Amino acid sequence: MKTTDKIDAARIELLLGELRLSGVRLVWAALAETADKEGWPAARFLAALAEQEMVERSRRRFERHLEEARLPPGKTLDAFDFAAVPMISKAQVMALAAGDAWIDKGANLLCFGPPGGGKSHLAAALGLALIEKGWRVLFARTTDLVQKLQIARRDLALEAAIAKLDKYHLLILDDLAYVTKDQAETSVLFELISARYERRSMLITANQPFGEWGKVFPDQAMTLAAIDRLVHHSTILEMNVDSYRRKAAVEKARGAGRPATRATIKGTS
Ligand code: ADP
Ligand code: MG
Repeated sequence: MKTTDKIDAARIELLLGELRLSGVRLVWAALAETADKEGWPAARFLAALAEQEMVERSRRRFERHLEEARLPPGKTLDAFDFAAVPMISKAQVMALAAGDAWIDKGANLLCFGPPGGGKSHLAAALGLALIEKGWRVLFARTTDLVQKLQIARRDLALEAAIAKLDKYHLLILDDLAYVTKDQAETSVLFELISARYERRSMLITANQPFGEWGKVFPDQAMTLAAIDRLVHHSTILEMNVDSYRRKAAVEKARGAGRPATRATIKGTS
């Protein structure tokens, strides 16, 4: 007879539920059976349960963090063709993906380059890699986030809204250039940048390196102050390449039936 027959399994389930040990709850019955069959010492059984709880918790944490990050789907470092952007070093990007040092000190990453060059893809892929390492990330279109902060400001809750973003170790602001004129008239973005300065990291993508940023902030002094804070501790990736999409389309047309695969582009770049 199995040991589990002698004890009240329903009661165990209930207790584990109350204790929120859902990892243990998932595996205890099967593990207990194995332990009985193989004559495990009690400590080994306990260790295996604790191990499972840890695994389950970190899986759930990852899923929570992935969901809250709102990353565009399918953009991974594996799917990123580094040969298409020869001016950036894969080793450097991989080091950034490992996180730790720069995220820890709230340093920034700025990605510049024309549309279609892979800025959003790389930003999302880095975000995903960092979430896998346990960091919390939020990916936002700059114009959407600015709009939200403007509403908060109108409700006299800007400070609270910015403080709420503190839980994200990395805030990805995609497409800084697309802040509209109307949005630029307020200083919410500047407030955000100032609040995170030297504490929490930002990854900003933009079509234009700094030159056009005057359109993003209310006045020149604020533009300069914002740039100053952003670049103080930052890595800049310049991705001056042709549009990946356009390149792929051209390859396809030229290749007379050859598929515009990444391999094709690799071969010609
Ligand atoms: P950007 O944000 O610079 O305008 P995107 O990151 O949106 O460019 O890239 C446009 C499309 O091309 C996306 O579907 C992206 O996944 C793809 N892409 C761009 N660069 C690369 C690359 N180096 N490797 C693989 N896919 C790429
Ligand atoms: Mg983009």
